Amino acid sequence: MKFWFVTGSQFLYGEETLKQVEKNSKKIVRGLKLPFPVEYKLTAKTEAEIEKVMKQANFDDDCAGIITFCHTFSPSKMWINGLALLQKPWLHFHTQFNESIPNEEIDMDYMNLHQSAHGDREHGFIGARLRAPRAVVAGYWKDPAVQARIADWQRAAIGAAFSRSLKIVRFGDNMREVAVTEGDKVEVQLRLGWQVNTWPVGDLVEEMNKVTKAEIDKLMKEYAELYDFDKKDNETIRYQAREEIAIEKILVREGAMAFSNTFQDLHGMKQLPGLAAQHLMSKGYGFGAEGDWKTAGMTAIIKAMYPDGAASFMEDYTYDYKHELILGAHMLEVCPTIAADRPRIEVHHLGIGGKEPPARLVFEGREGKAKALSLIDAGGRLRLIAQDVTCEKPFQDMPNLPVARAMWRPEPSFLKGLECWLIAGGAHHTVLTFDLTADTLRDLARILGIELVEIDSSASPEKLERELMLGDLIYSR
Ligand code: MN
Repeated sequence: MKFWFVTGSQFLYGEETLKQVEKNSKKIVRGLKLPFPVEYKLTAKTEAEIEKVMKQANFDDDCAGIITFCHTFSPSKMWINGLALLQKPWLHFHTQFNESIPNEEIDMDYMNLHQSAHGDREHGFIGARLRAPRAVVAGYWKDPAVQARIADWQRAAIGAAFSRSLKIVRFGDNMREVAVTEGDKVEVQLRLGWQVNTWPVGDLVEEMNKVTKAEIDKLMKEYAELYDFDKKDNETIRYQAREEIAIEKILVREGAMAFSNTFQDLHGMKQLPGLAAQHLMSKGYGFGAEGDWKTAGMTAIIKAMYPDGAASFMEDYTYDYKHELILGAHMLEVCPTIAADRPRIEVHHLGIGGKEPPARLVFEGREGKAKALSLIDAGGRLRLIAQDVTCEKPFQDMPNLPVARAMWRPEPSFLKGLECWLIAGGAHHTVLTFDLTADTLRDLARILGIELVEIDSSASPEKLERELMLGDLIYSR
């Protein structure tokens, strides 16, 4: 996908100035080293031009968002109709062609040409007046830190575009009686674009029965390249391969990039998909256990934003109050992209679900700064809760816990972090992501139009309670 660059100007300063504005704008666009391409579209001088380009942006599937910058003053009443129509993410880039003010060269002509300090204020006003969701980024266009900020926004815009077309396949319903994994699928489609629908587990079993020996052999080779395992476990692992192939065939057939399942509905299956779900996640599919399609969808979005990143479906399990750490794991389904070392496939008894011992990847999670994300249905609105965490190498080897696991400490401190999470209503299921920045997170929530609760080093339960009360006012409109 591409981003469109639109420069604001007007006829007041004459043809020569407009030519220079266009030349400089193209130079700025060429100088932006970003993860996704930016294309210079036009120097807008009239209401009609602006309305036209906004309509084109809306209908162009390859346009992920627009970046505007006012090289000169660009009277904002001519932007109203166009911006009011705009449905794509918008970034107002408050830059300037020259970094410094030249002593000799500067005269009134120079001032009229290089006046984003002036024109971008008019542009900022109309954005604020329209209550238009937008990212405002100030800084010199050659500055790598400024470009990194635009790159952050691009990631969010790409994530939002992915979200708009995301399909989620549910195998079976949500786990019985669980509240936090429920949600309004109509609201989710309206807000986020997700199409969340169900397929019978029987269809999956039928698909599993059609998987050939050759297909399984091929996937077993891939497993052997990526993971260590004992030959004695071959048959059990081959069964996971059969499950993975069948699940992926249905996902591909339906154009879906995420799925959920539940241990309560595995009718006709011998093993809970463990390795199968883990390896699918590593290929970019979102996953949620116990029917948790919201976490499946969020996992898929994060993976689409960071295709080479580290992100997994995760679950808060057990605390160590002494070391102030949360132990995160799941019955099986943790993505190997967060592994510190080469994972091992092992087969062990699983006390839940009443099925045969399943094959799963076992590993320890990597160290580093990360975020835990939880999307909840707060009743009439969606709330995205994001907590800053620091992942650490587990301080003991836990030899009788043969699952993938991670340990982390939440911000602002262990106990205050737990209190904040519970006050906000965060789930026990999360997406653990090592790549998402605070700026990208805010951009994403703004573009999607959902409530964002950030629990970072400056958070406190007291502030959070007031913030949530304000949220009730804002989102009850
Ligand atoms: Mn769970």
